[in-house]
Amino acid sequence: MVRVLERVVLASGNAGKLRELQALLAPTGVELVAQRALGVPDADEPFGTFVENALAKARHASAATGLPAIADDSGVCVPSLGGAPGVRSARYAADAGGPKDDAANNARLVRELAAHADRSAYYYCALVLVRDPADPQPVIADGLWHGEIVAEPRGDGGFGYDPHFLLPGLGLTVAQMDAADKNRTSHRGLAMRALLAKLADARLLRAVPAT
Ligand code: IMP
Repeated sequence: MVRVLERVVLASGNAGKLRELQALLAPTGVELVAQRALGVPDADEPFGTFVENALAKARHASAATGLPAIADDSGVCVPSLGGAPGVRSARYAADAGGPKDDAANNARLVRELAAHADRSAYYYCALVLVRDPADPQPVIADGLWHGEIVAEPRGDGGFGYDPHFLLPGLGLTVAQMDAADKNRTSHRGLAMRALLAKLADARLLRAVPAT
Protein backbone atom coordinates (compact mmCIF):
# COMPACT_ATOMS: atom_id res chain seq x y z
CA MET A 1 0.00 0.00 0.00
CA VAL A 2 1.53 3.37 -1.04
CA ARG A 3 1.95 6.01 1.68
CA VAL A 4 2.38 9.08 -0.55
CA LEU A 5 1.37 9.37 -4.22
CA GLU A 6 4.26 9.96 -6.62
CA ARG A 7 3.50 8.18 -9.89
CA VAL A 8 -0.12 7.47 -10.79
CA VAL A 9 -1.52 5.79 -13.90
CA LEU A 10 -4.49 7.40 -15.66
CA ALA A 11 -7.02 4.70 -16.55
CA SER A 12 -7.98 6.25 -19.88
CA GLY A 13 -6.82 6.49 -23.46
CA ASN A 14 -8.45 9.91 -23.92
CA ALA A 15 -5.78 12.52 -24.77
CA GLY A 16 -8.07 15.43 -23.81
CA LYS A 17 -8.63 14.05 -20.32
CA LEU A 18 -4.91 13.33 -19.90
CA ARG A 19 -3.96 16.93 -20.80
CA GLU A 20 -6.50 18.44 -18.42
CA LEU A 21 -5.80 16.09 -15.51
CA GLN A 22 -2.01 16.48 -15.85
CA ALA A 23 -2.39 20.27 -15.62
CA LEU A 24 -4.67 19.95 -12.58
CA LEU A 25 -2.24 17.58 -10.82
CA ALA A 26 0.93 19.54 -11.68
CA PRO A 27 0.97 21.65 -8.46
CA THR A 28 0.99 18.47 -6.34
CA GLY A 29 4.13 17.05 -7.96
CA VAL A 30 2.22 13.81 -8.72
CA GLU A 31 3.26 12.38 -12.10
CA LEU A 32 0.30 11.17 -14.16
CA VAL A 33 1.15 8.50 -16.77
CA ALA A 34 -1.30 7.39 -19.46
CA GLN A 35 -2.13 3.68 -19.25
CA ARG A 36 -1.51 3.34 -22.99
CA ALA A 37 2.11 4.44 -22.48
CA LEU A 38 2.44 1.45 -20.13
CA GLY A 39 0.82 -0.96 -22.61
CA VAL A 40 -2.52 -1.21 -20.80
CA PRO A 41 -5.60 -1.58 -23.03
CA ASP A 42 -8.86 0.24 -22.25
CA ALA A 43 -11.08 -1.53 -19.70
CA ASP A 44 -14.73 -2.39 -20.26
CA GLU A 45 -17.25 0.18 -19.01
CA PRO A 46 -20.35 -1.96 -18.58
CA PHE A 47 -22.10 -0.10 -15.77
CA GLY A 48 -24.99 2.35 -15.75
CA THR A 49 -23.35 4.80 -13.36
CA PHE A 50 -20.26 6.95 -13.84
CA VAL A 51 -18.82 6.04 -10.47
CA GLU A 52 -19.04 2.28 -11.05
CA ASN A 53 -17.33 2.62 -14.43
CA ALA A 54 -14.62 4.83 -12.95
CA LEU A 55 -13.95 2.34 -10.15
CA ALA A 56 -13.75 -0.57 -12.64
CA LYS A 57 -11.32 1.37 -14.86
CA ALA A 58 -9.12 2.43 -11.94
CA ARG A 59 -8.89 -1.13 -10.58
CA HIS A 60 -8.06 -2.48 -14.04
CA ALA A 61 -5.22 0.02 -14.59
CA SER A 62 -3.82 -0.49 -11.09
CA ALA A 63 -3.90 -4.29 -11.45
CA ALA A 64 -2.12 -4.12 -14.81
CA THR A 65 0.63 -1.73 -13.69
CA GLY A 66 1.10 -2.18 -9.95
CA LEU A 67 0.68 1.60 -9.61
CA PRO A 68 -2.00 3.68 -7.91
CA ALA A 69 -4.59 4.65 -10.53
CA ILE A 70 -6.98 7.49 -11.25
CA ALA A 71 -9.98 7.01 -13.49
CA ASP A 72 -12.28 9.67 -14.88
CA ASP A 73 -15.70 8.63 -16.09
CA SER A 74 -17.53 11.57 -17.54
CA GLY A 75 -20.07 12.65 -20.09
CA VAL A 76 -22.66 15.14 -21.19
CA CYS A 77 -26.20 14.72 -19.84
CA VAL A 78 -29.20 16.30 -21.54
CA PRO A 79 -32.44 16.39 -19.51
CA SER A 80 -34.59 16.74 -22.68
CA LEU A 81 -33.13 13.43 -23.85
CA GLY A 82 -33.76 11.67 -20.52
CA GLY A 83 -30.14 12.23 -19.45
CA ALA A 84 -28.58 10.83 -22.66
CA PRO A 85 -25.85 10.54 -23.82
CA GLY A 86 -24.77 10.29 -20.13
CA VAL A 87 -22.52 7.31 -19.41
CA ARG A 88 -22.73 6.41 -23.13
CA SER A 89 -21.21 9.78 -24.20
CA ALA A 90 -18.06 8.29 -25.75
CA ARG A 91 -20.14 5.71 -27.64
CA TYR A 92 -23.26 7.77 -28.46
CA ALA A 93 -22.96 7.47 -32.24
CA ALA A 94 -21.62 3.92 -32.07
CA ASP A 95 -24.74 2.88 -30.11
CA ALA A 96 -26.77 3.97 -33.17
CA GLY A 97 -24.54 2.05 -35.60
CA GLY A 98 -22.14 4.92 -36.35
CA PRO A 99 -18.42 5.36 -35.73
CA LYS A 100 -16.91 5.90 -32.26
CA ASP A 101 -15.66 9.45 -32.74
CA ASP A 102 -16.35 12.99 -31.58
CA ALA A 103 -17.74 14.28 -34.89
CA ALA A 104 -20.29 11.46 -35.12
CA ASN A 105 -21.24 11.83 -31.43
CA ASN A 106 -21.83 15.56 -31.87
CA ALA A 107 -23.83 15.01 -35.07
CA ARG A 108 -26.12 12.54 -33.28
CA LEU A 109 -26.58 14.89 -30.31
CA VAL A 110 -27.56 17.82 -32.56
CA ARG A 111 -29.92 15.56 -34.53
CA GLU A 112 -31.65 14.15 -31.43
CA LEU A 113 -32.09 17.63 -29.95
CA ALA A 114 -33.41 19.26 -33.12
CA ALA A 115 -37.07 19.00 -32.07
CA HIS A 116 -36.54 20.11 -28.47
CA ALA A 117 -36.93 23.66 -27.14
CA ASP A 118 -35.09 22.92 -23.89
CA ARG A 119 -31.42 22.57 -24.88
CA SER A 120 -29.99 22.69 -21.37
CA ALA A 121 -27.25 20.19 -20.59
CA TYR A 122 -24.56 19.52 -18.05
CA TYR A 123 -21.20 17.85 -18.03
CA TYR A 124 -20.60 15.39 -15.20
CA CYS A 125 -17.31 13.87 -14.07
CA ALA A 126 -16.65 11.14 -11.51
CA LEU A 127 -13.03 10.68 -10.43
CA VAL A 128 -11.85 7.63 -8.51
CA LEU A 129 -8.39 7.00 -7.12
CA VAL A 130 -7.30 3.57 -5.89
CA ARG A 131 -3.94 3.00 -4.21
CA ASP A 132 -3.99 -0.65 -5.34
CA PRO A 133 -6.54 -2.95 -6.98
CA ALA A 134 -7.90 -4.16 -3.62
CA ASP A 135 -7.98 -0.69 -2.02
CA PRO A 136 -10.76 -0.82 0.59
CA GLN A 137 -11.08 2.98 0.53
CA PRO A 138 -11.24 4.25 -3.05
CA VAL A 139 -11.16 8.05 -3.00
CA ILE A 140 -14.17 9.39 -4.93
CA ALA A 141 -15.11 12.90 -6.05
CA ASP A 142 -17.41 14.39 -8.65
CA GLY A 143 -18.22 17.65 -10.42
CA LEU A 144 -20.99 19.07 -12.58
CA TRP A 145 -20.99 21.96 -15.09
CA HIS A 146 -24.15 23.49 -16.56
CA GLY A 147 -24.58 24.85 -20.08
CA GLU A 148 -26.63 24.27 -23.22
CA ILE A 149 -26.18 22.55 -26.55
CA VAL A 150 -25.86 24.67 -29.70
CA ALA A 151 -26.47 23.26 -33.18
CA GLU A 152 -23.51 25.01 -34.83
CA PRO A 153 -20.01 24.13 -33.55
CA ARG A 154 -17.76 26.99 -32.38
CA GLY A 155 -14.08 26.97 -31.44
CA ASP A 156 -11.29 24.45 -31.77
CA GLY A 157 -10.08 23.95 -28.18
CA GLY A 158 -11.00 21.18 -25.75
CA PHE A 159 -12.32 17.86 -27.03
CA GLY A 160 -15.48 15.79 -27.35
CA TYR A 161 -18.70 17.82 -27.13
CA ASP A 162 -16.92 21.12 -26.30
CA PRO A 163 -17.64 22.91 -29.64
CA HIS A 164 -21.39 22.41 -29.01
CA PHE A 165 -21.41 23.11 -25.26
CA LEU A 166 -22.29 26.78 -24.69
CA LEU A 167 -21.85 28.65 -21.43
CA PRO A 168 -24.70 31.17 -21.76
CA GLY A 169 -23.27 33.52 -19.11
CA LEU A 170 -20.00 33.80 -21.04
CA GLY A 171 -21.42 33.59 -24.56
CA LEU A 172 -18.66 31.10 -25.43
CA THR A 173 -18.58 27.39 -26.11
CA VAL A 174 -16.08 25.39 -24.07
CA ALA A 175 -14.04 24.92 -27.26
CA GLN A 176 -13.63 28.72 -27.39
CA MET A 177 -12.21 28.88 -23.87
CA ASP A 178 -8.61 28.94 -22.82
CA ALA A 179 -7.52 25.52 -21.44
CA ALA A 180 -6.67 27.03 -18.03
CA ASP A 181 -10.08 28.75 -17.83
CA LYS A 182 -11.81 25.46 -18.66
CA ASN A 183 -9.90 23.71 -15.85
CA ARG A 184 -10.85 26.46 -13.40
CA THR A 185 -14.60 25.94 -13.85
CA SER A 186 -15.21 22.59 -15.54
CA HIS A 187 -16.79 19.43 -14.14
CA ARG A 188 -13.31 17.84 -14.26
CA GLY A 189 -11.66 20.80 -12.53
CA LEU A 190 -14.28 20.76 -9.76
CA ALA A 191 -13.97 17.00 -9.32
CA MET A 192 -10.15 17.14 -9.23
CA ARG A 193 -10.09 19.93 -6.65
CA ALA A 194 -12.51 17.91 -4.48
CA LEU A 195 -10.36 14.79 -4.97
CA LEU A 196 -7.18 16.68 -4.04
CA ALA A 197 -8.79 17.95 -0.84
CA LYS A 198 -9.61 14.36 0.12
CA LEU A 199 -6.12 13.13 -0.81
CA ALA A 200 -4.57 15.91 1.26
CA ASP A 201 -6.83 15.00 4.18
CA ALA A 202 -5.67 11.36 3.88
CA ARG A 203 -2.04 12.61 3.82
CA LEU A 204 -1.45 11.08 0.41
CA LEU A 205 0.06 14.22 -1.16
CA ARG A 206 3.60 15.47 -0.69
CA ALA A 207 2.72 18.98 -1.92
CA VAL A 208 -0.73 20.40 -1.26
CA PRO A 209 -1.81 23.02 -3.82
CA ALA A 210 -3.30 26.31 -2.61
CA THR A 211 -7.05 26.39 -3.22
P1 IMP B 1 -15.54 8.02 -20.90
O1 IMP B 1 -14.15 7.77 -21.41
O2 IMP B 1 -16.44 6.83 -20.97
O3 IMP B 1 -15.52 8.67 -19.56
O4 IMP B 1 -16.18 9.02 -21.95
C1 IMP B 1 -16.22 10.39 -21.75
C2 IMP B 1 -16.85 11.04 -22.96
O5 IMP B 1 -17.66 12.11 -22.50
C3 IMP B 1 -15.80 11.67 -23.86
O6 IMP B 1 -15.42 10.80 -24.90
C4 IMP B 1 -16.52 12.89 -24.39
O7 IMP B 1 -17.30 12.51 -25.47
C5 IMP B 1 -17.42 13.27 -23.23
N1 IMP B 1 -16.76 14.25 -22.35
C6 IMP B 1 -16.35 14.09 -21.06
N2 IMP B 1 -15.77 15.20 -20.59
C7 IMP B 1 -15.78 16.06 -21.61
C8 IMP B 1 -15.28 17.40 -21.74
O8 IMP B 1 -14.67 17.98 -20.83
N3 IMP B 1 -15.48 17.97 -22.93
C9 IMP B 1 -16.13 17.35 -23.96
N4 IMP B 1 -16.59 16.12 -23.91
C10 IMP B 1 -16.42 15.47 -22.72
